Amino acid sequence: MNTTYTPVIGMETHIELKTASKMFCGCVNDPFGAEAPNTHTCPTCLGFPGALVVPNRKAVDWTIRLALALNCEVSLESKFDRKHYSYADLAKGYQISQYDQPIGHDGWMEIGEGADARRVRINRIHLEEDTGKLVHEKVGGKDLSLVDFNRSGVPLVEIVTEPDFRSAAEAKEYGKKLQRIARYVGVSDADMEKGSMRLEANVSLTKGAVDYDDLPPYKVELKNINSFRFMAAAVEYEIARQAPLLDAGERLPQETRGWNEAKKETFSQRSKEDAQDYRYFPEPDIPPMRFTAEAVAAARAALPTLPDAHDAAFAALGLPADTRDLLIESADTAARVRAALDLVADQKKFVNWFVRNRAALADTAPDALAKRFTAEHTKAAVSDADLAAFVAAVIDENPDPVAEYRAGKEKALGYLAGQVQKKARGGADAAATTALLKAQLA
Ligand SMILES: [Zn+2]
Repeated sequence: MNTTYTPVIGMETHIELKTASKMFCGCVNDPFGAEAPNTHTCPTCLGFPGALVVPNRKAVDWTIRLALALNCEVSLESKFDRKHYSYADLAKGYQISQYDQPIGHDGWMEIGEGADARRVRINRIHLEEDTGKLVHEKVGGKDLSLVDFNRSGVPLVEIVTEPDFRSAAEAKEYGKKLQRIARYVGVSDADMEKGSMRLEANVSLTKGAVDYDDLPPYKVELKNINSFRFMAAAVEYEIARQAPLLDAGERLPQETRGWNEAKKETFSQRSKEDAQDYRYFPEPDIPPMRFTAEAVAAARAALPTLPDAHDAAFAALGLPADTRDLLIESADTAARVRAALDLVADQKKFVNWFVRNRAALADTAPDALAKRFTAEHTKAAVSDADLAAFVAAVIDENPDPVAEYRAGKEKALGYLAGQVQKKARGGADAAATTALLKAQLA
């Protein structure tokens, strides 16, 4: 027997902020550009006992900005907490994170289109520090794990959704939209390959409709997947893997699984610890943060136009989704194209022209864009003398329509005007053509 299951999918995303310095010290925040491992380090980000932490103001401001872009409420009171666990890339034995007072909460994002559009809920967005990085290498014939602390203490934002996704495609759409928003508001490169954006999907199945008060007793976390495509494939694989196990009456464990792209399957990495294992407590070295409603309102007012707003404007022109995706990929492109729209006559034609030539037009200002388009698409206007000659020739060459017009058939005039336009290669003024035809046929 095959039960019908509904996928219950939630997303947890980590995004590294591209501030100049790290989260709690003055070290350079450039884990990818460093010339050598462990060069951007100090006693604070190496976790030496007694080293004091000072929060990065810009990282806090940017987290607020991202929270607002994701339609979150911003808490006017927030604080940092210690999350304890032991791992080789976490020198001090705890990570400074946020537990019960995240900077943002209760946001949403719209996914889907038209009649299928709906909101997925964002539970919270909080600020923490990234860990170091383990590098596995062979040294002198031995397999060693080396630690690079250049990434230790890089500001890291975590965004947690409710389990509102029902398919791999929805989860992927969310991930891509989140990436775009992080880039639009200028807080991160959100690069999946480099790991400055890291997606985790938790997947379980329930029978029939989802009951949020009675969610499945397990969830499988899919981690360390560095592309949207692989993430979607892993989610699909999990849905197919879990269904027959549940049908067979098995209790699925709470676990973390990775994705093996060569085998196209997920594999178990570890069983998942519960939240209380982390022994959270308020970070004693950082006072609680307070924000004024005015400051939050100012941050909201300073948000750039977001991708959805650009998308809606392009949709109003009747452009298909794939074209719109290209246009809104970067905030700069979307803004330039929309500014140029005001300067051209045929907006849809302009957009299609832009999309076809976008590589060559990457650095062009809106007014230059509009000028170039107009120059390429405006036919050279014909002179009055030429127009009169074209009209005379058309009357000569088309005795039948001429006779029809003279017999009272107005429609014939349109045909004749079309013939004039043909001779003028589209450069004839329509009103002048009609007036001339009427005058010569009178
Ligand atoms: Zn440091």
